[in-house]
Amino acid sequence: MRNKRVNIGIVGGGITGLVSAYELTKLGHRVTVIEKESELGGLAGTFRYGDTYLEKFYHHFFSGDMHARKMISELSLSDKLVYTKPKSGVYTTGDIAPYSSIVDFCKYPSGSLFGNIKSNAKLFQLSLTDWKKVDGVYTNQFFKDKLSPETYEAVWRPLLENKFGDKANNISLAWFQARIKSRSSKLGYLNGSNKILIDGLTKTTSNQGGKVLLGTKIISYDKKDNNFILKSSSQNFQFSHLITALSPFSINTKGKPSMQKKYMSAISVVCILKEPLTKFYWTNLNDKSPFLALIEHTNMVDKEQYNNKNIVYLGIYTNDESEIMSKGIDYFQMEAVKLFKNINPNFKEKWLEDIFLFKAENAQHIADVDYYKNLPQIKSSTKNLYQGSLGHIYPYDRGVDKAIWLGKEISKKLLNDLL
Ligand SMILES: Cc1cc2nc3c(=O)[nH]c(=O)nc-3n(C[C@H](O)[C@H](O)[C@H](O)COP(=O)(O)OP(=O)(O)OC[C@H]3O[C@@H](n4cnc5c(N)ncnc54)[C@H](O)[C@@H]3O)c2cc1C
Repeated sequence: MRNKRVNIGIVGGGITGLVSAYELTKLGHRVTVIEKESELGGLAGTFRYGDTYLEKFYHHFFSGDMHARKMISELSLSDKLVYTKPKSGVYTTGDIAPYSSIVDFCKYPSGSLFGNIKSNAKLFQLSLTDWKKVDGVYTNQFFKDKLSPETYEAVWRPLLENKFGDKANNISLAWFQARIKSRSSKLGYLNGSNKILIDGLTKTTSNQGGKVLLGTKIISYDKKDNNFILKSSSQNFQFSHLITALSPFSINTKGKPSMQKKYMSAISVVCILKEPLTKFYWTNLNDKSPFLALIEHTNMVDKEQYNNKNIVYLGIYTNDESEIMSKGIDYFQMEAVKLFKNINPNFKEKWLEDIFLFKAENAQHIADVDYYKNLPQIKSSTKNLYQGSLGHIYPYDRGVDKAIWLGKEISKKLLNDLL
């Protein structure tokens, strides 16, 4: 049976909102995507670099990202998706220890061979466990009890603290289990950046009759006579159905605000270097630098497309209110140079040709032990209001693949209610 056609507003032009718009316009619904920024893409957004584009925040796909692969194929972009097997490492002080294969994990220098083997056997066993059985277990407690203390101290404790700050001791093992389960040694990248996917979704949606409004921040909504009235600073909009595809998962209503989950903010520093810095794509930084990871993008992607420059990302997760969120590019440049000198003694300041700084609030939800009990629902208690955010994704970590899944789930639920 065909659905009746309705007038749908989607607040948020990240991947989730764009996928919902794409799915709903396919069936002839009137859809308007409203985005506060001047560009679409949200956390997966890009910036122009030379003749091409780069992600503001480092991105790759895993082999098992089937929602993304299917969508990329549907948009006839599969020839742009290239998978490689780049190397990973862990940096403490002095050197980067390889951390890509079972042999690397076992030979990791800070632990004994026996301790490392035991830790990896436990992690493998964990990856086979049903996540519901370990939901509510504290990740750090599991690490302390089951892994060797050296492996925990050298690898996992810094990783948890870098990602979740003072909430690191509250993280659910179900989140961690899903995270290690979805990792793959092969990583994919869309040549031309996420912009290819964002443009593909936007163009098809617009061909299907959808509209996009940029630079329009929705500040509140109200429901009157079965319609949603949305307010921006300059105009009002009216829709019969509303989707909020943003984090935290709701804009203010006139009544009480919806429950909101706690989030971490992200900072990304993109350095353009004349020379390569390391041989690794991903290096966890377990030293004293403010950065959590160094991602040498051009050790995953052919640098020819960037005029043979080397692209290095430095990432940080932090609290919205933390002092580092207010720091400017000079501070990050100074810290980047210090780190590069430590990591590669041949590094010269003149290698650094350009530097870009990006910050985003609400970039990672904190999947604590109580998370599943309070998992937000897509279909809200208000009729015809649907919500999707990073916080709706659990136990898996958020990602473009999961945002595509979420965008589809939202549209499925809405369409189902129209039957
Ligand atoms: C540092 C970092 C690294 C990452 N690396 C990877 C990776 O390697 N692989 C991967 O798959 N994923 C990665 N991700 C995650 C991925 O980018 C996100 O999961 C995905 O893009 C989320 O999409 P979304 O649409 O759900 O949310 P968002 O991207 O947050 O989109 C929400 C949109 O809503 C808009 N908005 C908010 N409030 C309003 C308002 N009031 N009015 C109008 N518009 C509003 C925002 O501007 C934004 O465009 C990474 C994220 C970060 C931060």
